[in-house]
Amino acid sequence: MAKVLCVLYPDPVDGYPPKYARDDIPTITGYANGQTAPTPKGPLGFKPGDLVGCVSGELGLRAYLEKNGHELIVTSDKDGPDSEFEKHLPDAEIVISQPFWPAYLTAERIAKAKKLKLVVTAGIGSDHTDLEAAARAHITVAEVTGSNSISVAEHVVMMILSLVRNYLPSHKIAVEGGWNIADCVERSYDVEGMHFGTIAAGRIGLAVLRRLKPFGLHLHYTDPHRLAPEVEKELDLTFHPDAESLVKAVDIVNLQMPLYPSTEHFFNEAMLAKMKRGAYLINTARGKLVERDAIVRALESGHLAGYAGDVWFPQPAPADHPWRTMPWNGMTPHISGTSLSAQARYAAGTLEILESWFDGTPIRDEYLIVDSGVLAGTGATSYKLT
Ligand code: NDP
Repeated sequence: MAKVLCVLYPDPVDGYPPKYARDDIPTITGYANGQTAPTPKGPLGFKPGDLVGCVSGELGLRAYLEKNGHELIVTSDKDGPDSEFEKHLPDAEIVISQPFWPAYLTAERIAKAKKLKLVVTAGIGSDHTDLEAAARAHITVAEVTGSNSISVAEHVVMMILSLVRNYLPSHKIAVEGGWNIADCVERSYDVEGMHFGTIAAGRIGLAVLRRLKPFGLHLHYTDPHRLAPEVEKELDLTFHPDAESLVKAVDIVNLQMPLYPSTEHFFNEAMLAKMKRGAYLINTARGKLVERDAIVRALESGHLAGYAGDVWFPQPAPADHPWRTMPWNGMTPHISGTSLSAQARYAAGTLEILESWFDGTPIRDEYLIVDSGVLAGTGATSYKLT
């Protein structure tokens, strides 16, 4: 019998379950790169479209785990030495967490987790786990690769349009009873003809490029590995050997690379200075990729025309985090990868990973981040330990 410790975000303030806006969601069976969507043996402990990413939703895992004799603890109390998370960590064999409300699994916490064997990220992005410490402790780390890539790509497109067209301030004017069109449009442009560049063109970055193509933007990217020539041709892409070259050339920059030690704060004052005046920056990758206060200064000086994203550090962000109030921001809490559509897939993928683990069958290679003491699967191509 295993103890499974699961950290999820709190329930809606008005109670659980919510009244849903729609009765169903489309069924997605596969992704653009040919990977199939999660295929657990099941049954699923939820109806796709249900809110399963919060504490009462339990990712729909309780029936499966308890039927097989395992113990499931679900909490949102994750920070500090007196938290429920730290209380249960020493006996847990499996930790399930997600990036939206991350249970930071530091080297110190891993040292206390003597029984821990498997860490599952219900979602994508396992940087809240110290991957080097996990590798040293021979803990397997897996995430549900692909499950919310399109959810994030759609969010990026939404944020680009809302910043460039000045949507949020114009909406505020409408809500507040105003009609001053000049105030709405004095910062409103069309994206058509602008230059857009993504720093990293992995699953999400490429999906963003594909979605922007019909808008008539000029598309740029940089990535350690070039895309296939036919993809570059299809999307008429300009490849840049590094981020510096890309940011000088474009009007809108999108960050989509993973966070690991050497990418921390890589988007700093010097990089911002290389951007065109009036450029926009979108970051749905990780808050720590950028220098927090350099972003605030660039918006205040007018060098950046807008910054939007959903990733912060730490999470949840404190009430006085300057990104909540800096000018021309389109920030949301960390939500892009946890739409009801996304969570149906990452909950199913979490079940698939648990089934593989308990059945003693291999976890899909694309889900692996760390295994047998080294970066493995997707982890080996997308992350570095330094
Ligand atoms: P992928 O692994 O598919 O793509 C990551 C890409 O980043 C790869 O192409 C990789 O290059 C590239 N890369 C790695 N290091 C660098 C670097 N130093 N400079 C430029 N490119 C680099 O991941 P996804 O596209 O699925 O996700 C990307 C990130 O987005 C995640 O790591 C996560 O942090 C974030 N994310 C956020 C979500 C949200 O809800 N906001 C949800 C999902 C993900 P290569 O492999 O070619 O070497």
